[in-house]
Amino acid sequence: MFQSNEFNSSKPGDRYADQLRRGFRNLRFEPEIESEYRRKLIETERLPAAICAIVGACVWSAFALLDFHRLSVLAAWGNFDAQIWLWLGARWSALALLAVGAVAIRKGRGDYTGLSWTMYTAMGAAIAVTAVVVHNKGLFAADSAQIVVVMAAFLPLGLTFRRALAAALVVALVSAIALLVFDTRHELEHRAQIVAMLLMAVPVAAMGGYLREHSQRRQFLLTAILDRQAHTDPLTGLANRRSLFMHAERAAHLAAKRGTAVALAIVDIDHFKRFNDSYGHGAGDLALQQVAHALSADLHHPFDIAARLGGEEFCVLLYGATPEVAQVRFDNLLDRTRRLAIPHAASPDGFLTLSIGAATLARGERFNTLVTRADAALYRAKHEGRDRICWA
Ligand code: GH3
Ligand code: MG
Ligand code: MG
Repeated sequence: MFQSNEFNSSKPGDRYADQLRRGFRNLRFEPEIESEYRRKLIETERLPAAICAIVGACVWSAFALLDFHRLSVLAAWGNFDAQIWLWLGARWSALALLAVGAVAIRKGRGDYTGLSWTMYTAMGAAIAVTAVVVHNKGLFAADSAQIVVVMAAFLPLGLTFRRALAAALVVALVSAIALLVFDTRHELEHRAQIVAMLLMAVPVAAMGGYLREHSQRRQFLLTAILDRQAHTDPLTGLANRRSLFMHAERAAHLAAKRGTAVALAIVDIDHFKRFNDSYGHGAGDLALQQVAHALSADLHHPFDIAARLGGEEFCVLLYGATPEVAQVRFDNLLDRTRRLAIPHAASPDGFLTLSIGAATLARGERFNTLVTRADAALYRAKHEGRDRICWA
């Protein structure tokens, strides 16, 4: 849920729009947006990462079954040397890690990217080890398959581009060392050829990974900008009516559950039509912005919210404020507006003033009936002479 304080800046969505304008060629946002993006990435790639791990575990299980056949061909049962132990150890520990990791990613709630990285590199290293041992034993193993593994680092595993690149490099390096140093079966020329292909696969796959992440990040910023625009009043930067109701329904629900007080003020500028007629629409817009600023100056609780209902009508919700506390805070609000001293010659006071209809949430009451009661109180405030608070 958003916090009302997010709406206190005068230009909605600016942080994201600024970031979009500045660009992000190095695939980094400013710290706050970056951590938001990471959280989102982790959540959206949780399922694909778990699927990748499950597919990996299935393929790996098929190879584990093939090992039984290979060991029979070698007639090695009961006579395992160190290399065979290494081969089977790598096979089964990687399989266990993939299976446990797939479940942990799917069922877990936290950050699984370290696990994802470890699973990927462990599997890549295990492939390199098993391929070399199988070769050394004179059996067939498709060592060029390691190229596919290097490219798989850029699948949606929850990893940022940099971490995926690091993982791909680790796997390519381990594979290259295993082939060049420990493979005693093949010609050096053949092994060097595979290593060269492995090293070429990294930048090719990385280019795809970079472009994918760049467009993912752009999408993230555009969505955030649109989301802000959908929930914010463009003139004042306050929450709009739609987001006020979404927020307030939840606040009212929570307050009912916890027995917390909630106070609401419907705020209307007095004689605003005359203000526009006297000073022009531009001055009217400026006054609306000043009033909006005054309304949002005293929001403490994350559930407190100031919103523009439309026209020159606003709303302030104070979570946890008893009628006594709310009375003081709404009085302060009128004072803050008076201190703005916005001249209004066509108003009896000579300055711009506000009228407030206030109400506190009754037990089990829905937010929209609270609004209706506060509205009725506002009507009374207007009739009793404006520039005052009336309680429902
Ligand atoms: P009352 O004290 O009874 O509330 O009188 P009022 O003149 O404030 O109320 P009324 O509803 O008659 O007029 C509201 C005015 O608010 C009319 C309209 O021109 C002005 N208004 C509404 N939205 C905007 C806006 O976005 N910018 C400007 N400048 N004026 C607006
Ligand atoms: Mg008015
Ligand atoms: Mg009005």
